[in-house]
Amino acid sequence: MSFNTLNLQDSLLRAVHAQGYTSPTPIQAQAIPAILEGTDVMAAAQTGTGKTAGFTLPLLQRLGEGQQAKPKQVRALVLTPTRELAAQVEDSVKTYGAHESLKSVVVFGGVGINPQKDKLRKGADILVATPGRLLDLHGQGAVEFGALEILVLDEADRMLDMGFIHDIRRILKLLPKKRQNLMFSATFSSEIRTLAKTICYKPVEIDVAPRNSTVEIITQCAYHVEKADKFRLLSTVLRSTADQTLVFSRTKHGANALVKKLGRDGVTAAAIHGNKSQNQRTKALDDFKNNRIQVLVATDIAARGIDIDDLPRVINFDLPNVSEDYVHRIGRTGRAGASGLAMSLVSPEEKSLLRDIEKLIKRKVEIADLPVFTEAETSGNISQDNVENSSAKNEEKSSQIKPNRNRRRRSNNKPAGKAAARNQQRRTRSANDEDSQQQSRPKRRRRTRAKAGNPQEARQQSNNGNSRESSNPAPQAGKSAMAKLKSLFGGKKVA
Ligand code: AMP
Repeated sequence: MSFNTLNLQDSLLRAVHAQGYTSPTPIQAQAIPAILEGTDVMAAAQTGTGKTAGFTLPLLQRLGEGQQAKPKQVRALVLTPTRELAAQVEDSVKTYGAHESLKSVVVFGGVGINPQKDKLRKGADILVATPGRLLDLHGQGAVEFGALEILVLDEADRMLDMGFIHDIRRILKLLPKKRQNLMFSATFSSEIRTLAKTICYKPVEIDVAPRNSTVEIITQCAYHVEKADKFRLLSTVLRSTADQTLVFSRTKHGANALVKKLGRDGVTAAAIHGNKSQNQRTKALDDFKNNRIQVLVATDIAARGIDIDDLPRVINFDLPNVSEDYVHRIGRTGRAGASGLAMSLVSPEEKSLLRDIEKLIKRKVEIADLPVFTEAETSGNISQDNVENSSAKNEEKSSQIKPNRNRRRRSNNKPAGKAAARNQQRRTRSANDEDSQQQSRPKRRRRTRAKAGNPQEARQQSNNGNSRESSNPAPQAGKSAMAKLKSLFGGKKVA
């Protein structure tokens, strides 16, 4: 199928071709004609499916047919759950709208409000906003919605997860009743359907990805590893390749700690989470996108919506408490048809989380053999015993996992509703995780590390070829993700 069959005007086709897109993705093929006709649309599409262009292209075309926005007016409002996603969506609006004479503005919290007020004073054909800041701006009289034609709710499921429902309801009350509504969500939960009923009028339903399916092209694997050994494994994996990697940590504190420790091992990394200022978040993302750092360590909320072209690998340092977040996390790689690799480090305490994830995605995550560590490595945290016990074959014999196996047997007899309830409990915990864990944790005294050295020293060593990194296998370009994984760690020594 070609973009030319979608009734998009030439100027938009030119912008699309300039991006190198040759054919529309399934969501684009279905959403673009429906939106151009002016109907409401409710689309289940995971991130990475091309949904942003799916709504932005027809939105630009429809707005181009009307009058430009007057001062303070907004003609199309795109609501997103996070600042990063808002910035990315507006980038896309600018990219696809390069040949249109439409004005776009993006507003979100964490940065000064006055420049945003100044921009809105002149009016915006398209306003991309996070809910809280938008309400602030409206409260201060910086924007009015009388001329609004189109409302887009992007990542609606995440908006609900993040507790934006009240803000959304308040915003809906401010909008004219007659408007076109477009709702995008990774999943269509019953909550989302309830919300959709209050927003959309006879929406066309589009579902390009079955609910909660993991993107097929992503190779998924897991390592069974003791909690105390996780960092050593992570560091070894990261030092064995030059591939850029997004690492997920469940807590902000954990993300900061990982960045520090990776720095000591000579791995360039930055953290992105809710305690970082907007400038720090923007810089971290920018450094990562421009390959100035190898690793971005993110919490679930901060990572939502991050779109990085050609991201080859995601590592779950911790498994998420809520199974659905696993799908969102691994969806950061394997975007727009590219292959990707998602690895999870699973401690004995997390095995039940992995089982819940497997239930959700309806497939087993392959258990990879741990690398065999040399003496240098085993003198760190991973003991040879652990390495052997964690391999798939030996796992059955390990006495450590027996409690979990028993739990699995019991949980198999449970009605499905209980797993869902457990997930809901975890979701509540998870929403608080980032903050509560950090606040309740007593301050630890800094330990001086005899061997750690400073990052500069570590980098120096690595440059001199003295570090362990220098003898790691070189990055293996051009191989499939799993072949690459196997050749890196398939029983070989990693020193
Ligand atoms: P999204 O799901 O909107 O976050 O898009 C994911 C990625 O797909 C972005 O990096 C887009 O640039 C890319 N993309 C969007 N549409 C297409 C297309 N038709 N062909 C190839 N890549 C695309």
